[in-house]
Amino acid sequence: MIAVSNRAGQPRRWQEALREAITDPAELVEVLGLDPALVEPARRAAERFPLRVPRGFVARMRRGDPHDPLLRQVLPLDAELVEHPGFVPDPVGDLPSAAGPGLLHKYAGRALLIATGACAVHCRYCFRREFPYAEQLAGASRFEAALELIRRDASLEEVILSGGDPLSLSNSRLAELSATLDAVPHLRRLRLHTRHPVVLPERVDSGLLDWLSSTRLPVAMVVHANHPAEIDATVAAALRSIADRGVTLLNQSVLLKGVNDSADTLQELAERLFDARVLPYYLHLLDRVRGAAHFEVCEEEALKILEALRARLPGYLTPRLVREEAGQHSKTPVAQ
Ligand SMILES: *Cc1c(COP(=O)(O)O)cnc(C)c1O
Ligand code: SF4
Repeated sequence: MIAVSNRAGQPRRWQEALREAITDPAELVEVLGLDPALVEPARRAAERFPLRVPRGFVARMRRGDPHDPLLRQVLPLDAELVEHPGFVPDPVGDLPSAAGPGLLHKYAGRALLIATGACAVHCRYCFRREFPYAEQLAGASRFEAALELIRRDASLEEVILSGGDPLSLSNSRLAELSATLDAVPHLRRLRLHTRHPVVLPERVDSGLLDWLSSTRLPVAMVVHANHPAEIDATVAAALRSIADRGVTLLNQSVLLKGVNDSADTLQELAERLFDARVLPYYLHLLDRVRGAAHFEVCEEEALKILEALRARLPGYLTPRLVREEAGQHSKTPVAQ
């Protein structure tokens, strides 16, 4: 069990770590010893998509460095408020593909359940930053409608719990959900798309680990890390404890200007992931969501980085470079 102790020496519960996340730009700037002039623009940009970052993640940032690659992922900037043609609120066509409340069925055999709108961290480049969770949420009573669609569609072999972050749900809520999915005979796999083990490793408690090995369905967990500094010893230990339960661990990253747009960074990320028993899966080109244009790396540059990476790493540690296009039957490979 991964637990950060509080002052009394008791294991700190993840709910507490989640509640204590930094949401005020002034506090983030102060904790990191940054220029106070960053506060006002951050407040303006946070009006559209609030700041949220767990303290443990902030502790992995370099003090006094406004260009820190972890900080860049979470600090709201004025650049987010500049309109760019082609950068829109729903860039991947999630809304037209909704099969029902909270269920996205775009690809054969697998459907994605929006299990919750809540995330432990708010990533500035998130393609769902403007997703209308309140309308689409599969929460409470709406789970039933989504589950009924899953039961009725025998072509579905895999359910992906996503969000938001599905590990924002309590262990008992997850257990209820997986018990229901276990009982659907045509399902063969359960997948989780989560950033919690990386940004809030406290979430990987013994209850979660027990849950992961309690379902009849083989579990794949796709975590989300973009930079090697995100994977410190605590995160690596949390990931290994998940792998010990027989879960297949994969990572997806987004290629982000000023964060991980170099072969050196991505090589180190792949190697640290493997040390923690995670394989690189996708490297996504940025989804063109409104407010994220300043993170975009062009396709030509992305291909150069990937080529360099391929020349250095074994094939199984090289992620697949993809982009998401509305209306396609899978992620689209980006090829030379
Ligand atoms: C990305 C995505 C998936 C998963 O795609 P894989 O290629 O299987 O990883 C499934 N459903 C939706 C709606 C997605 O956006
Ligand atoms: S954790 Fe994932 S869903 Fe949540 S804000 Fe970050 S990118 Fe978006």
